[in-house]
Amino acid sequence: MALFEYAPAPESRAVVDIAPAYGLFIDGAFREAGSGTTFKTLSPATEEVLSEVAYADAADVDAAVRAARAAFPAWAALPGAERAKYLFRIARILQERSRELAVLETLDNGKPIRETRDADLPLVAAHFFYYAGWADKLNHAGYGPDPRPLGVAAQVIPWNFPLLMLAWKIAPALATGNAVVLKPAETTPLSALFFADVCRQAGLPGGVVNIVTGDGATGAELVAHPDVDKVAFTGSTAVGKEIARTVAGTRKKLTLELGGKGANIVFDDAPLDQAVEGIVNGIFFNQGQVCCAGSRLLVQESVRDELLDALKRRLATLRVGDPLDKNTDVGAINSAEQLARITELAEAGEAEGAERWSPPCELPPDGYWFAPTLFTNVTQAHRIAREEIFGPVLSVLTFRTPDEAVAKANNTPYGLSAGVWTEKGSRILRMANELRAGIVWANTFNKFDPASPFGGYKESGYGREGGRHGLEAYLNV
Ligand code: NAD
Repeated sequence: MALFEYAPAPESRAVVDIAPAYGLFIDGAFREAGSGTTFKTLSPATEEVLSEVAYADAADVDAAVRAARAAFPAWAALPGAERAKYLFRIARILQERSRELAVLETLDNGKPIRETRDADLPLVAAHFFYYAGWADKLNHAGYGPDPRPLGVAAQVIPWNFPLLMLAWKIAPALATGNAVVLKPAETTPLSALFFADVCRQAGLPGGVVNIVTGDGATGAELVAHPDVDKVAFTGSTAVGKEIARTVAGTRKKLTLELGGKGANIVFDDAPLDQAVEGIVNGIFFNQGQVCCAGSRLLVQESVRDELLDALKRRLATLRVGDPLDKNTDVGAINSAEQLARITELAEAGEAEGAERWSPPCELPPDGYWFAPTLFTNVTQAHRIAREEIFGPVLSVLTFRTPDEAVAKANNTPYGLSAGVWTEKGSRILRMANELRAGIVWANTFNKFDPASPFGGYKESGYGREGGRHGLEAYLNV
């Protein structure tokens, strides 16, 4: 029970001016889709229509790729220090407009303002600052004396971190001298369109960044376009496989950042209060709609009951509701489709015999909501232990020995993230060696830094984004 009630602390919507309609951003200007088709984007917290956005078809995608191709030679020919100036300018404008963009992202995505303000936006700016710093040092990045850009990069991103995924894609591409065409997800197109305005404000030459909005069909047109040199995709494993098939046999270079089913492993010597915070951050950050979420808790049997008691007490203090309220911890699920998928998997968990628990919490009447949920008595065969739920649902399993923890953690087709909680440094190193995950966090979870490479093994994809490693995907090496 909370000791006191919080007064409402809503962030003002007045800081963002959303137009009733947006076009495609091609060659430095907004234009309507050739067919005139549009689609609506909603606030998942209220189901209010926020704006209407142009729907790009094959001809629009072709126009965007042509604009990028035309802009590429001059952009690539600029000295790195000159490209860096644009990236630094973009980074500073993003910082200046961060409150506006945080509110916009919260409205379009449903995630709490606390996260967009304190995590998404600072990381977005940090990515541009970081890659701005590389633009004039590419000769020293370890890819030979004069690494060359690839040309036109086609980039397709999901809805869970719309502006952050854009930054992960666009910042390294521009620093290395490529031109880009980016397609945001259909449920969260707005921050990419505001980013187009940031590019204009920064004086970025027309055609270097192009934004086409649309759905999966638009994305498929973009990755299949014959004049694209590089495809970078973040999204589901199923779509990633389809894209790999499309690109196979072409000269296009491909990086895939796909799904995950991360294990968060708590040993009996771990500081349990800290571990509880890490578990909560691991699975309830962004409503669990995080590819690297710690969605499987592996707890050593001897501390299971103590840890679960503490975890349940902590979950009872989470505040679920209005994402624009600065005290909200858990916001809305991004779409009705995603809510249906989470609901289906949670029901499968119950049907297969796992025990379901949620803290008492009142969900708002409109919009898409799912209470923080914990499943115990989960076995490795259960769907909730194997499939990516991509929602605020934690599956709890136990282990007795480090070997068993490793075996269970690695028993997944994915390999994106893992967390280890223990006081023993030697155990951390051993676990980090044996876990097949692109990222292993020790005594923390969901920590991101632009200098640190991120990416997966197995069905979580290939290639790395972030850090020096992230340059490689955009260079002809
Ligand atoms: P999704 O694959 O359905 O969609 C992602 C993007 O791809 C959207 O822009 C969509 O319009 C587009 N798309 C859909 N079909 C396409 C096709 N045939 N060809 C080209 N583009 C197509 O995924 P989602 O549901 O939006 O996102 C959730 C998934 O993203 C989860 O599985 C999550 O794990 C993954 N994800 C991974 C990372 C990572 O870095 N590994 C980061 C965030 C999200």
